[in-house]
Amino acid sequence: MPTKTRRHKILICLACLAMLAMLGWVDYITGYELGFFVFYSAPVGIAAWQLGRWPAVGMSLVASFAWALADSYSGAKYSTRFALYWNNSIHFASFIINAVAIARIKAELDRRHQLAAELEALRQTLRVVAKQLPTCPRCGHLRDQSDSTASAVPVSPLPPELAEALCASCRLLELQAK
Ligand SMILES: [Zn+2]
Repeated sequence: MPTKTRRHKILICLACLAMLAMLGWVDYITGYELGFFVFYSAPVGIAAWQLGRWPAVGMSLVASFAWALADSYSGAKYSTRFALYWNNSIHFASFIINAVAIARIKAELDRRHQLAAELEALRQTLRVVAKQLPTCPRCGHLRDQSDSTASAVPVSPLPPELAEALCASCRLLELQAK
C-alpha cells in the first residue's frame, strides 16, 4: 500500500505526463510553424519542483520525445537529418538545465526550512531549560535573591531565550539597556 506522499508523487508524475501528451497533441494539430517549446518546460519545471532532479530529467526526456513526435507528424521538413537531431538535442539540453536548476533551488529552500524548524525547536528547548535554572545566567546569583551587585557585572548581549532565567535586578538592567 503506497504511502500518502508516494501516491501524491505518482499523481504529480501522471499529471505531468498527461500535460506533455496534451501539449504534444496541441503542438501537432497547430502545425510545425507554431513553436510550443516554452510550454513543454512547464511540466518539466513542475516535476523538478515537486519530485526532484532525477524524475525531472526523465520528464525532460519525455518532453523532448513528445516535441519530436509532434514536430515530425505535423510535417516539419528538415533538409538534413543533422538539423533534426540538433534541434532535439538543444531542446533536451534546455529542459535538463531547467530541471536541474529548479530542483536545486527547491532542495535549497527545503533545507533552509528544515534548518529554521530545527533552530526554532532548539530555541524552544533553551527557553524551557532557562526557566529551570536556579541561578541567574548574567550575575550568577540565586534567581529569587534580590541582588544589589548585579550592576557591577558588565552588560553583555544575552540571548532572548534566557530572559526568563534572569534575577529581578538583571531583568531591570536588561530593560534599561534596551
Ligand atoms: Zn542576575
